[in-house]
Amino acid sequence: MSFTQTGLSEKLCKRLQEIGYLVPTTIQEKAIPVALRGQDIIGMAQTGTGKTAAFLLPILSIQQEKPQKFKTPSVLILEPTRELAVQVQENLRRFDEFESLKSVLLIGGDPMGMQERSLQKPHNIVIATPGRLLDFLERGKLLLCGVQHVVIDEADRMLDMGFIPDVDKIMAVLPKLRQTLLFSATMTPDIRKLVEQYMMLPKTIEVAGHKGAKASIEQFAILASDTNKREALREILHDHPDLNCVIFCNRKRDIDLLKSSLMRHKFLVGAIHGDMDQESRNKTLQSFKAGEISVLIASDVLARGVDIEGLGMVVNFNVPLQVEDYVHRIGRTGRADLKGLAFTLANPREMKLLANIEKHQDTKLNTKQFEPKEKVKEEPQNKVHPKVRTEKERPRSYLPHQIRELPIETSPVVGFGEITPAFMLRSALGISSNPAAQIN
Ligand code: AMP
Repeated sequence: MSFTQTGLSEKLCKRLQEIGYLVPTTIQEKAIPVALRGQDIIGMAQTGTGKTAAFLLPILSIQQEKPQKFKTPSVLILEPTRELAVQVQENLRRFDEFESLKSVLLIGGDPMGMQERSLQKPHNIVIATPGRLLDFLERGKLLLCGVQHVVIDEADRMLDMGFIPDVDKIMAVLPKLRQTLLFSATMTPDIRKLVEQYMMLPKTIEVAGHKGAKASIEQFAILASDTNKREALREILHDHPDLNCVIFCNRKRDIDLLKSSLMRHKFLVGAIHGDMDQESRNKTLQSFKAGEISVLIASDVLARGVDIEGLGMVVNFNVPLQVEDYVHRIGRTGRADLKGLAFTLANPREMKLLANIEKHQDTKLNTKQFEPKEKVKEEPQNKVHPKVRTEKERPRSYLPHQIRELPIETSPVVGFGEITPAFMLRSALGISSNPAAQIN
Protein backbone atom coordinates (compact mmCIF):
# COMPACT_ATOMS: atom_id res chain seq x y z
CA MET A 1 0.00 0.00 0.00
CA SER A 2 1.16 3.56 -0.68
CA PHE A 3 0.36 6.64 1.42
CA THR A 4 -1.97 7.95 -1.32
CA GLN A 5 -4.07 4.80 -0.94
CA THR A 6 -4.56 5.45 2.77
CA GLY A 7 -6.71 8.47 1.94
CA LEU A 8 -4.35 11.15 3.29
CA SER A 9 -4.49 14.56 1.58
CA GLU A 10 -2.38 15.08 -1.53
CA LYS A 11 -0.43 17.82 0.24
CA LEU A 12 0.58 15.47 3.08
CA CYS A 13 1.49 12.61 0.72
CA LYS A 14 3.79 14.98 -1.15
CA ARG A 15 5.41 16.07 2.10
CA LEU A 16 5.90 12.44 3.18
CA GLN A 17 7.77 11.72 -0.06
CA GLU A 18 10.02 14.72 0.61
CA ILE A 19 10.98 13.51 4.09
CA GLY A 20 11.56 9.95 2.94
CA TYR A 21 8.40 8.25 4.21
CA LEU A 22 7.90 6.23 1.05
CA VAL A 23 5.54 3.50 2.22
CA PRO A 24 3.39 3.31 5.35
CA THR A 25 4.39 1.00 8.18
CA THR A 26 1.89 -1.69 9.20
CA ILE A 27 0.27 0.37 11.96
CA GLN A 28 0.00 3.36 9.61
CA GLU A 29 -1.49 1.25 6.83
CA LYS A 30 -4.13 -0.11 9.19
CA ALA A 31 -4.84 2.93 11.36
CA ILE A 32 -4.81 5.89 8.94
CA PRO A 33 -7.89 4.92 6.85
CA VAL A 34 -9.89 4.15 10.02
CA ALA A 35 -8.84 7.40 11.74
CA LEU A 36 -9.68 9.39 8.61
CA ARG A 37 -13.26 8.03 8.85
CA GLY A 38 -13.43 9.56 12.34
CA GLN A 39 -13.62 6.25 14.17
CA ASP A 40 -12.06 5.67 17.62
CA ILE A 41 -8.97 3.45 17.60
CA ILE A 42 -7.16 1.27 20.12
CA GLY A 43 -3.67 0.89 18.65
CA MET A 44 -1.81 -2.04 20.17
CA ALA A 45 1.64 -1.08 19.04
CA GLN A 46 4.94 -0.47 20.70
CA THR A 47 7.19 2.45 19.88
CA GLY A 48 9.36 2.13 16.82
CA THR A 49 6.46 0.91 14.71
CA GLY A 50 5.65 4.36 13.32
CA LYS A 51 2.69 4.92 15.62
CA THR A 52 3.35 8.67 16.01
CA ALA A 53 2.70 9.22 12.32
CA ALA A 54 -0.23 6.80 12.53
CA PHE A 55 -2.10 9.26 14.73
CA LEU A 56 -0.60 12.59 13.63
CA LEU A 57 -1.08 12.17 9.88
CA PRO A 58 -4.85 11.51 9.78
CA ILE A 59 -5.48 14.27 12.34
CA LEU A 60 -3.39 16.70 10.29
CA SER A 61 -5.07 15.63 7.08
CA ILE A 62 -8.53 16.33 8.54
CA GLN A 63 -7.63 19.53 10.36
CA GLN A 64 -5.64 21.12 7.53
CA GLU A 65 -8.82 21.06 5.41
CA LYS A 66 -10.90 22.81 8.07
CA PRO A 67 -11.06 26.52 8.91
CA GLN A 68 -9.27 26.91 12.24
CA LYS A 69 -10.46 28.83 15.29
CA PHE A 70 -7.04 29.24 16.98
CA LYS A 71 -8.58 30.32 20.31
CA THR A 72 -9.29 26.89 21.73
CA PRO A 73 -7.39 23.81 20.55
CA SER A 74 -9.07 21.24 18.32
CA VAL A 75 -6.50 18.53 19.05
CA LEU A 76 -5.20 17.25 22.40
CA ILE A 77 -2.32 14.80 22.58
CA LEU A 78 -1.45 13.31 25.98
CA GLU A 79 2.03 11.87 26.46
CA PRO A 80 3.43 10.21 29.59
CA THR A 81 6.84 11.89 29.47
CA ARG A 82 8.24 15.25 28.54
CA GLU A 83 10.65 13.68 26.05
CA LEU A 84 7.84 11.98 24.18
CA ALA A 85 5.83 15.19 24.06
CA VAL A 86 8.80 17.07 22.59
CA GLN A 87 9.26 14.31 20.06
CA VAL A 88 5.62 14.44 18.96
CA GLN A 89 5.97 18.17 18.37
CA GLU A 90 9.15 17.57 16.34
CA ASN A 91 7.29 15.02 14.21
CA LEU A 92 4.40 17.41 13.76
CA ARG A 93 6.73 20.15 12.56
CA ARG A 94 8.29 17.78 10.05
CA PHE A 95 4.92 16.80 8.60
CA ASP A 96 3.51 20.34 8.69
CA GLU A 97 6.61 22.29 7.70
CA PHE A 98 4.86 25.67 7.34
CA GLU A 99 2.99 25.20 10.63
CA SER A 100 -0.49 25.55 9.15
CA LEU A 101 -1.55 24.28 12.58
CA LYS A 102 0.11 25.79 15.62
CA SER A 103 1.04 23.59 18.53
CA VAL A 104 1.87 24.31 22.15
CA LEU A 105 3.74 22.09 24.54
CA LEU A 106 2.57 21.89 28.16
CA ILE A 107 5.07 19.70 29.95
CA GLY A 108 6.28 19.38 33.50
CA GLY A 109 9.77 20.61 34.30
CA ASP A 110 9.67 23.68 32.05
CA PRO A 111 8.72 27.10 33.48
CA MET A 112 4.95 27.63 33.62
CA GLY A 113 5.13 31.30 32.65
CA MET A 114 6.51 30.60 29.20
CA GLN A 115 3.90 27.92 28.56
CA GLU A 116 1.16 30.25 29.77
CA ARG A 117 2.30 32.89 27.29
CA SER A 118 2.28 30.31 24.49
CA LEU A 119 -1.37 29.60 25.35
CA GLN A 120 -2.19 33.26 24.80
CA LYS A 121 -1.02 32.99 21.19
CA PRO A 122 -3.15 31.27 18.51
CA HIS A 123 -2.89 27.50 18.72
CA ASN A 124 -4.72 24.41 17.44
CA ILE A 125 -2.87 21.49 18.96
CA VAL A 126 -1.96 20.98 22.61
CA ILE A 127 0.67 18.34 23.34
CA ALA A 128 0.86 17.76 27.07
CA THR A 129 1.81 15.57 29.98
CA PRO A 130 -1.28 15.00 32.17
CA GLY A 131 -0.06 16.66 35.39
CA ARG A 132 0.93 19.93 33.78
CA LEU A 133 -2.19 20.08 31.62
CA LEU A 134 -4.34 19.61 34.70
CA ASP A 135 -2.48 22.48 36.42
CA PHE A 136 -3.45 24.81 33.59
CA LEU A 137 -7.02 23.53 33.48
CA GLU A 138 -7.50 23.98 37.21
CA ARG A 139 -6.13 27.51 37.06
CA GLY A 140 -8.58 28.32 34.26
CA LYS A 141 -5.84 29.05 31.74
CA LEU A 142 -7.08 26.67 29.08
CA LEU A 143 -10.43 25.63 27.65
CA LEU A 144 -10.78 22.24 26.01
CA CYS A 145 -14.39 22.64 24.84
CA GLY A 146 -13.32 22.74 21.18
CA VAL A 147 -11.34 19.48 21.17
CA GLN A 148 -12.31 17.19 18.28
CA HIS A 149 -9.49 14.65 18.46
CA VAL A 150 -7.78 13.34 21.58
CA VAL A 151 -4.79 11.00 21.58
CA ILE A 152 -3.84 9.03 24.70
CA ASP A 153 -0.38 7.79 23.80
CA GLU A 154 1.44 5.03 25.69
CA ALA A 155 -1.54 4.38 27.95
CA ASP A 156 0.29 1.54 29.71
CA ARG A 157 3.11 3.90 30.57
CA MET A 158 0.60 6.48 31.88
CA LEU A 159 -0.72 3.75 34.13
CA ASP A 160 2.76 2.79 35.38
CA MET A 161 3.45 6.43 36.19
CA GLY A 162 0.19 6.89 38.10
CA PHE A 163 -1.32 9.35 35.61
CA ILE A 164 -4.66 7.63 35.14
CA PRO A 165 -6.54 9.75 37.76
CA ASP A 166 -5.24 12.88 35.96
CA VAL A 167 -6.30 11.45 32.60
CA ASP A 168 -9.77 10.78 34.07
CA LYS A 169 -10.13 14.41 35.15
CA ILE A 170 -8.99 15.67 31.74
CA MET A 171 -11.33 13.37 29.81
CA ALA A 172 -14.24 14.57 31.95
CA VAL A 173 -13.97 18.12 30.57
CA LEU A 174 -13.71 17.15 26.90
CA PRO A 175 -16.69 17.40 24.55
CA LYS A 176 -18.57 14.11 24.24
CA LEU A 177 -18.54 14.30 20.48
CA ARG A 178 -14.91 13.71 19.59
CA GLN A 179 -12.52 11.13 18.21
CA THR A 180 -10.34 9.24 20.72
CA LEU A 181 -7.20 7.41 19.67
CA LEU A 182 -5.54 5.32 22.37
CA PHE A 183 -2.16 3.64 21.95
CA SER A 184 -0.68 1.06 24.28
CA ALA A 185 1.78 -1.80 23.97
CA THR A 186 -0.28 -3.90 26.37
CA MET A 187 -3.95 -4.17 27.30
CA THR A 188 -4.50 -4.37 31.06
CA PRO A 189 -7.80 -4.28 32.98
CA ASP A 190 -7.20 -0.61 33.92
CA ILE A 191 -6.69 0.35 30.31
CA ARG A 192 -9.75 -1.66 29.33
CA LYS A 193 -11.66 0.47 31.88
CA LEU A 194 -10.40 3.67 30.22
CA VAL A 195 -11.50 2.32 26.86
CA GLU A 196 -14.98 1.45 28.10
CA GLN A 197 -15.41 4.80 29.81
CA TYR A 198 -14.11 7.12 27.14
CA MET A 199 -14.24 5.48 23.73
CA MET A 200 -17.09 4.82 21.34
CA LEU A 201 -17.12 1.56 19.37
CA PRO A 202 -13.34 1.62 18.99
CA LYS A 203 -11.58 -0.44 16.35
CA THR A 204 -8.67 -2.41 17.77
CA ILE A 205 -5.62 -2.47 15.56
CA GLU A 206 -2.89 -4.80 16.67
CA VAL A 207 0.52 -4.88 15.11
CA ALA A 208 1.76 -8.45 15.04
CA GLY A 209 4.48 -9.30 17.51
CA HIS A 210 3.92 -6.21 19.66
CA LYS A 211 5.00 -8.19 22.73
CA GLY A 212 8.42 -9.16 21.49
CA ALA A 213 11.37 -7.29 20.12
CA LYS A 214 11.59 -6.41 16.44
CA ALA A 215 13.27 -8.77 14.03
CA SER A 216 15.60 -5.97 12.91
CA ILE A 217 17.42 -6.13 16.27
CA GLU A 218 20.20 -8.65 16.79
CA GLN A 219 20.22 -9.55 20.49
CA PHE A 220 23.16 -10.76 22.58
CA ALA A 221 23.62 -11.66 26.22
CA ILE A 222 27.11 -11.34 27.70
CA LEU A 223 27.69 -13.19 30.95
CA ALA A 224 30.04 -11.24 33.19
CA SER A 225 30.53 -10.77 36.91
CA ASP A 226 29.88 -7.31 38.38
CA THR A 227 33.64 -6.66 38.55
CA ASN A 228 34.05 -7.48 34.86
CA LYS A 229 31.01 -5.70 33.48
CA ARG A 230 32.79 -2.42 32.82
CA GLU A 231 35.57 -4.14 30.90
CA ALA A 232 32.98 -6.14 28.95
CA LEU A 233 31.16 -2.91 28.12
CA ARG A 234 34.34 -1.23 26.91
CA GLU A 235 35.05 -4.22 24.70
CA ILE A 236 31.59 -3.94 23.12
CA LEU A 237 32.13 -0.22 22.47
CA HIS A 238 35.59 -0.83 21.02
CA ASP A 239 34.25 -3.61 18.81
CA HIS A 240 31.63 -1.30 17.29
CA PRO A 241 33.37 2.06 16.89
CA ASP A 242 30.95 3.26 14.20
CA LEU A 243 27.76 2.74 16.18
CA ASN A 244 26.38 5.27 18.60
CA CYS A 245 25.15 3.63 21.75
CA VAL A 246 22.64 4.04 24.57
CA ILE A 247 23.53 2.21 27.78
CA PHE A 248 20.71 1.51 30.22
CA CYS A 249 21.27 1.12 33.96
CA ASN A 250 18.68 0.07 36.53
CA ARG A 251 19.86 2.52 39.20
CA LYS A 252 20.74 6.19 39.04
CA ARG A 253 23.83 5.59 41.17
CA ASP A 254 25.21 3.21 38.53
CA ILE A 255 24.65 5.83 35.84
CA ASP A 256 26.92 8.33 37.59
CA LEU A 257 29.60 5.73 38.34
CA LEU A 258 29.57 4.39 34.82
CA LYS A 259 29.76 7.85 33.31
CA SER A 260 32.87 8.65 35.34
CA SER A 261 34.39 5.31 34.45
CA LEU A 262 33.84 5.75 30.70
CA MET A 263 35.12 9.31 30.82
CA ARG A 264 38.28 8.03 32.47
CA HIS A 265 38.59 5.69 29.53
CA LYS A 266 38.17 8.68 27.21
CA PHE A 267 34.79 7.89 25.73
CA LEU A 268 32.59 10.79 24.66
CA VAL A 269 29.81 10.12 27.07
CA GLY A 270 26.71 11.83 28.50
CA ALA A 271 24.07 10.76 31.01
CA ILE A 272 20.35 11.31 31.34
CA HIS A 273 18.05 10.37 34.21
CA GLY A 274 14.86 11.46 35.94
CA ASP A 275 16.57 13.57 38.63
CA MET A 276 18.06 15.96 36.09
CA ASP A 277 16.21 19.17 35.25
CA GLN A 278 14.48 19.30 31.91
CA GLU A 279 16.96 21.70 30.34
CA SER A 280 19.96 19.47 31.08
CA ARG A 281 18.05 16.43 29.82
CA ASN A 282 17.17 18.18 26.57
CA LYS A 283 20.72 19.46 26.12
CA THR A 284 22.26 16.02 26.62
CA LEU A 285 19.75 14.37 24.30
CA GLN A 286 20.36 17.00 21.64
CA SER A 287 24.14 16.61 21.78
CA PHE A 288 23.72 12.84 21.47
CA LYS A 289 21.39 13.25 18.50
CA ALA A 290 23.86 15.71 16.96
CA GLY A 291 26.73 13.24 17.40
CA GLU A 292 28.71 15.42 19.81
CA ILE A 293 28.66 12.53 22.26
CA SER A 294 28.37 8.98 21.00
CA VAL A 295 27.62 7.11 24.20
CA LEU A 296 24.59 8.00 26.30
CA ILE A 297 23.94 6.36 29.67
CA ALA A 298 20.30 6.46 30.65
CA SER A 299 17.67 5.27 33.06
CA ASP A 300 14.33 3.96 31.85
CA VAL A 301 13.23 7.57 31.43
CA LEU A 302 14.64 7.26 27.91
CA ALA A 303 13.45 3.75 27.24
CA ARG A 304 9.87 4.47 26.32
CA GLY A 305 9.22 6.00 23.01
CA VAL A 306 12.12 8.40 22.68
CA ASP A 307 13.22 8.29 19.10
CA ILE A 308 16.90 8.57 18.26
CA GLU A 309 17.12 8.30 14.54
CA GLY A 310 19.58 5.66 13.38
CA LEU A 311 20.62 4.53 16.88
CA GLY A 312 23.04 1.68 16.24
CA MET A 313 23.30 -0.10 19.53
CA VAL A 314 21.72 -0.51 22.96
CA VAL A 315 23.55 -2.03 25.92
CA ASN A 316 21.76 -3.09 29.09
CA PHE A 317 24.37 -2.69 31.80
CA ASN A 318 21.90 -4.44 34.12
CA VAL A 319 19.19 -6.86 33.07
CA PRO A 320 15.93 -4.89 33.37
CA LEU A 321 13.61 -6.17 36.08
CA GLN A 322 10.54 -6.18 33.84
CA VAL A 323 10.43 -7.96 30.50
CA GLU A 324 8.46 -5.03 29.03
CA ASP A 325 11.30 -2.68 29.98
CA TYR A 326 13.70 -4.90 28.05
CA VAL A 327 11.53 -4.65 24.94
CA HIS A 328 11.23 -0.88 25.31
CA ARG A 329 14.94 -0.39 25.95
CA ILE A 330 16.21 -2.37 23.00
CA GLY A 331 13.40 -0.94 20.86
CA ARG A 332 15.36 2.36 20.73
CA THR A 333 17.50 0.68 18.07
CA GLY A 334 16.39 -1.15 14.92
CA ARG A 335 13.77 1.51 14.29
CA ALA A 336 12.02 1.95 10.96
CA ASP A 337 13.46 -1.43 9.98
CA LEU A 338 17.13 -0.36 10.20
CA LYS A 339 19.40 -3.02 11.71
CA GLY A 340 20.27 -2.61 15.38
CA LEU A 341 22.36 -4.40 17.99
CA ALA A 342 21.32 -5.05 21.58
CA PHE A 343 23.69 -6.38 24.27
CA THR A 344 22.65 -7.34 27.78
CA LEU A 345 25.30 -7.78 30.45
CA ALA A 346 24.17 -10.34 32.99
CA ASN A 347 25.83 -11.45 36.21
CA PRO A 348 24.98 -14.87 37.72
CA ARG A 349 22.21 -13.35 39.90
CA GLU A 350 20.56 -11.88 36.80
CA MET A 351 20.34 -15.16 34.88
CA LYS A 352 16.75 -15.73 35.99
CA LEU A 353 15.67 -12.36 34.60
CA LEU A 354 17.42 -13.22 31.37
CA ALA A 355 15.56 -16.52 31.19
CA ASN A 356 12.26 -14.62 31.63
CA ILE A 357 13.13 -12.40 28.69
CA GLU A 358 13.91 -15.40 26.51
CA LYS A 359 10.67 -17.07 27.54
CA HIS A 360 8.64 -13.95 26.84
CA GLN A 361 10.15 -13.53 23.40
CA ASP A 362 10.18 -17.23 22.69
CA THR A 363 13.74 -16.94 21.38
CA LYS A 364 17.14 -17.75 22.82
CA LEU A 365 19.51 -14.78 22.99
CA ASN A 366 22.90 -15.24 21.43
CA THR A 367 24.82 -15.79 24.69
CA LYS A 368 28.56 -15.49 25.31
CA GLN A 369 30.69 -15.77 28.42
CA PHE A 370 32.92 -12.70 28.80
CA GLU A 371 36.62 -13.54 29.14
CA PRO A 372 38.40 -10.67 30.90
CA LYS A 373 41.80 -9.86 29.48
CA GLU A 374 44.62 -9.88 31.98
CA LYS A 375 46.16 -6.74 30.60
CA VAL A 376 44.13 -3.72 29.53
CA LYS A 377 44.32 -3.39 25.74
CA GLU A 378 46.57 -0.51 24.65
CA GLU A 379 45.28 1.96 22.11
CA PRO A 380 47.53 2.24 19.03
CA GLN A 381 49.73 5.32 19.41
CA ASN A 382 48.53 7.45 16.52
CA LYS A 383 45.05 6.10 16.03
CA VAL A 384 42.31 7.96 17.87
CA HIS A 385 39.22 5.88 18.46
CA PRO A 386 36.15 7.74 17.15
CA LYS A 387 34.57 7.63 20.59
CA VAL A 388 37.78 8.65 22.40
CA ARG A 389 38.85 12.14 23.39
CA THR A 390 42.26 13.38 22.41
CA GLU A 391 44.52 14.12 25.35
CA LYS A 392 43.96 17.86 24.90
CA GLU A 393 40.18 17.52 25.11
CA ARG A 394 40.22 15.32 28.15
CA PRO A 395 38.41 16.94 31.06
CA ARG A 396 40.78 18.05 33.81
CA SER A 397 38.39 18.04 36.73
CA TYR A 398 38.85 14.62 38.26
CA LEU A 399 39.77 14.38 41.92
CA PRO A 400 43.40 13.31 41.46
CA HIS A 401 44.01 16.41 39.33
CA GLN A 402 42.19 18.60 41.81
CA ILE A 403 44.28 17.33 44.71
CA ARG A 404 47.54 18.08 42.95
CA GLU A 405 46.36 21.58 42.07
CA LEU A 406 45.12 22.53 45.55
CA PRO A 407 47.15 24.98 47.64
CA ILE A 408 48.40 22.28 49.96
CA GLU A 409 51.09 24.36 51.62
CA THR A 410 48.57 26.88 52.97
CA SER A 411 46.23 24.25 54.39
CA PRO A 412 46.61 22.85 57.89
CA VAL A 413 47.23 19.19 57.05
CA VAL A 414 48.23 16.61 59.58
CA GLY A 415 49.89 13.71 57.76
CA PHE A 416 52.17 10.75 58.19
CA GLY A 417 55.62 12.15 57.51
CA GLU A 418 56.19 13.59 54.05
CA ILE A 419 53.43 11.72 52.25
CA THR A 420 49.91 12.73 53.21
CA PRO A 421 47.34 10.03 52.37
CA ALA A 422 44.67 11.16 49.89
CA PHE A 423 41.78 10.55 52.28
CA MET A 424 43.36 12.88 54.87
CA LEU A 425 43.92 15.53 52.22
CA ARG A 426 40.28 15.29 51.22
CA SER A 427 39.02 15.59 54.72
CA ALA A 428 41.41 18.43 55.63
CA LEU A 429 40.47 20.33 52.49
CA GLY A 430 36.77 19.65 52.89
CA ILE A 431 36.42 17.60 49.69
CA SER A 432 33.97 14.75 49.90
CA SER A 433 35.23 11.36 48.84
CA ASN A 434 34.31 10.85 45.19
CA PRO A 435 33.62 7.24 44.26
CA ALA A 436 34.32 8.13 40.62
CA ALA A 437 37.98 8.48 41.46
CA GLN A 438 38.13 4.92 42.70
CA ILE A 439 36.52 3.05 39.87
CA ASN A 440 38.32 1.48 36.98
P1 AMP B 1 7.61 5.94 16.12
O1 AMP B 1 7.19 4.53 16.38
O2 AMP B 1 6.46 6.81 15.77
O3 AMP B 1 8.42 6.49 17.25
O4 AMP B 1 8.55 5.95 14.81
C1 AMP B 1 9.77 5.27 14.76
C2 AMP B 1 10.69 5.79 13.68
O5 AMP B 1 10.21 5.39 12.40
C3 AMP B 1 10.81 7.31 13.61
O6 AMP B 1 12.19 7.62 13.41
C4 AMP B 1 10.03 7.72 12.40
O7 AMP B 1 10.54 8.89 11.80
C5 AMP B 1 10.20 6.50 11.49
N1 AMP B 1 9.06 6.27 10.58
C6 AMP B 1 7.77 6.20 10.93
N2 AMP B 1 7.02 5.91 9.86
C7 AMP B 1 7.84 5.82 8.81
C8 AMP B 1 7.66 5.54 7.42
N3 AMP B 1 6.45 5.30 6.91
N4 AMP B 1 8.73 5.53 6.62
C9 AMP B 1 9.97 5.76 7.14
N5 AMP B 1 10.22 6.02 8.44
C10 AMP B 1 9.16 6.05 9.27
